[in-house]
Amino acid sequence: MSTFYHSTRSTHKLLTSKQAILTGIAPDGGLFICDTLAKKHLDLQSVCNNSFMQNAELVLSTLLDDFTPGEIENCVKAAYGTGFDSDAITPITTLGNSWMLKLWHGPTSAFKDIALQMLPQLMSVSRQGDSRNVMIVTATSGDTGKAALAGFANVPGIGITVFYPEGKVSDVQRLQMITQTGSNVCVSAVRGNFDDIQTQVKNIFANHKLADDLAAQNTVLSSANSINIGRLVPQVVYYFDAYAQLVRSGALTLGDPLEFFVPTGNFGDVLAGYFAKLMGLPVAKLTVASNVNDVLYDFIRTGIYDRRRSFNKTISPSMDILVSSNLERLLYLLSDGNCELISNYMTQLTKQGFYQISDELLAKLQETFACGRADDTQTRAAIHTTWTNEKILIDTHTAVAVSVMNEAKPNCDCRVVLSTANAYKFSTDVLEALTGKACTLSGFEAMDALQDITNTTAPQMLSKLRTAAVLHPEICSIEDMDCVVSSACEKIL
Ligand SMILES: *Cc1c(COP(=O)(O)O)cnc(C)c1O
Repeated sequence: MSTFYHSTRSTHKLLTSKQAILTGIAPDGGLFICDTLAKKHLDLQSVCNNSFMQNAELVLSTLLDDFTPGEIENCVKAAYGTGFDSDAITPITTLGNSWMLKLWHGPTSAFKDIALQMLPQLMSVSRQGDSRNVMIVTATSGDTGKAALAGFANVPGIGITVFYPEGKVSDVQRLQMITQTGSNVCVSAVRGNFDDIQTQVKNIFANHKLADDLAAQNTVLSSANSINIGRLVPQVVYYFDAYAQLVRSGALTLGDPLEFFVPTGNFGDVLAGYFAKLMGLPVAKLTVASNVNDVLYDFIRTGIYDRRRSFNKTISPSMDILVSSNLERLLYLLSDGNCELISNYMTQLTKQGFYQISDELLAKLQETFACGRADDTQTRAAIHTTWTNEKILIDTHTAVAVSVMNEAKPNCDCRVVLSTANAYKFSTDVLEALTGKACTLSGFEAMDALQDITNTTAPQMLSKLRTAAVLHPEICSIEDMDCVVSSACEKIL
């Protein structure tokens, strides 16, 4: 049986998963989705006997069934075979009476590696038979850029260009990007702020003259951001694999329910948990944890999505988001595929800045989803208590979810918090949380101090940055960004 994907806003154009992965976003602005998730129940007994790699093959071949088993096997090996510093890939550990699923053992120490190590593999296979090259263009405020660079480096036929705002990312984040090796990668700082750069990237995608120039170089543009279905599907894997690990450890008996607490920004991570539930995982509840950019917290309680509010900079920057794109997919699924309704909501969001879902839809949403929020003070407190009580060092994003979990009434015996970054990626803020004092140290000094006071070690990939050669010192202006992309296309292998 072949699974087809179509836009959340219309059903008349059906695509295979390969086409959906290459296209990224539907031409009508909707996101690609399939209608048969609930018919794709996985056999939990087999899941529990499987390794992470085997579960990755099982989930991917179920959702992306136009790939051959051999293609899937190669993609899984290429994505997770090396580059993770844990054999379990996403190991689960205890956290007091609960559990913590560690998603940051990949090459950039953040959970985005799980998807961004896989997406380039899926794209490479999807473009076979098409002689055109692909150029990925990404604007980043920090984490995504490095994870995308690490995933796409040296992938034949695909190039990657990453733009970041000059002076507005952390020392470690900047070094992670400007030291990236690979002959097909291009990284440039831009004089401007993140929103201006993001807007210019959108202009680049809409620039017909540039598209024609690139077509003459046999290249098309694409994006690696989290609306691509090829980034979402790999994230379903670790929900099933977490269950397998818990059953094998004796914490769960096959069939028992569990619940997840998920630090949320663009709603990709937690949506993958809903996919897993539809595919038969006994998920009692998915709790969305927000920082003070609490648009989802309000939405899940009231059914009103309202982005007309101020944007707050927090110590969990990857969750500083006011428009969570992947929510559109959830609303499509909850409304049993009502494209017209989804289009209307999204138009209202664009035109008026808000929409309100029906009571019926809200009730259905609340059956599965709960929400909580933590401000920076509560986030720091969670880092401090987790270290004091458990001797476990957590990062600022994980801490938002831990804080929410500690405040929440349990829905079942087994509670799992998703840990999305290694604490050393945010050394300065973690150090401040532990010491209770403002920290004026630079990135590596804070890393050293954190190692000293906790007697733990920073991931090698982060400490190695101290001596890594700077390969991408370039700085450009907003107006030059299209030229940068155009000349980067010459580097594609
Ligand atoms: C991206 C990110 C998140 C948010 O994930 P979404 O899929 O956007 O909800 C949380 N924590 C970290 C560390 C991240 O990089």
